[in-house]
Amino acid sequence: MRYVLLLGFIALPLLAQSKRVFIITDAEGVAGVCRQEQTDPKDAELRQLLTGEINAAVQGFFDGGASEVFVWDGHDGSETLSALTIDPRAKLVMGRLESTMLMERRFAAVAFVGQHARANSRGGVMAHSYSSLGIQNLLMNGKPVGEVETRTALAGWFGTPVIFLSGDQMAAEQLHAIVPEAETAVVKEGLDNYACISLSAEAARKLIREGAKNSMGKLGHIQPYKLNGPVTFQIEYTSRHALRQDAGSGPGEEVVDARTIRFHGKDFIEAWKRTHF
Ligand SMILES: [Zn+2]
Repeated sequence: MRYVLLLGFIALPLLAQSKRVFIITDAEGVAGVCRQEQTDPKDAELRQLLTGEINAAVQGFFDGGASEVFVWDGHDGSETLSALTIDPRAKLVMGRLESTMLMERRFAAVAFVGQHARANSRGGVMAHSYSSLGIQNLLMNGKPVGEVETRTALAGWFGTPVIFLSGDQMAAEQLHAIVPEAETAVVKEGLDNYACISLSAEAARKLIREGAKNSMGKLGHIQPYKLNGPVTFQIEYTSRHALRQDAGSGPGEEVVDARTIRFHGKDFIEAWKRTHF
């Protein structure tokens, strides 16, 4: 009896410690953001809108039992968020991350806030894959993908599930296509690239707080999204970013045409690292 109690005292704090959530943030999927110029990292309203949604998610994750929450400033050069306004319980991750995005730290869960859909998504608000100016299309194992699919697979490689996404309707659908049980908060419906029906900031924050809290209850039930076997990434750049002369000279690289390159890997992580994302 005494040993069982003792075990409980030791095991419970350990269990709590491991509930660390990593939030990937972006701008195009935030409520009230519908025009390109609004996504300027220095835009005062964007900063307020995005920070409000992030802090709502942080609140929700802690309400749901998270032990630590990390927020990565993932939009355009990582200069949108400020330590002055982020929830004081969160840790702010600033700057460009290596290709593994700290996933080797084995977070309990990954979440997206402010997420947009992949390039060429009809009904997606400012839909793009990594770079709206630089990349026309991105394929993973022959299928069109964006940040949602590739980063969910990256987290999955490290055994971490994506449990929550807030963003536009298309972004939510695209996560559900690969992680059906994930919790989502749809804060706007895209009409076209620059037109949408948006919730108010207040309504979006409420939805996000609740969704984030609920998603913590699904920890342990949502499986990491894993790609098994060899993986390819194909990047079709825009005309302005056509391939340079030395493209194709690295290991596993194959030039497809003047602006398209394919990266092969024996597994997800090898192919992923070769893309230099
Ligand atoms: Zn993005």
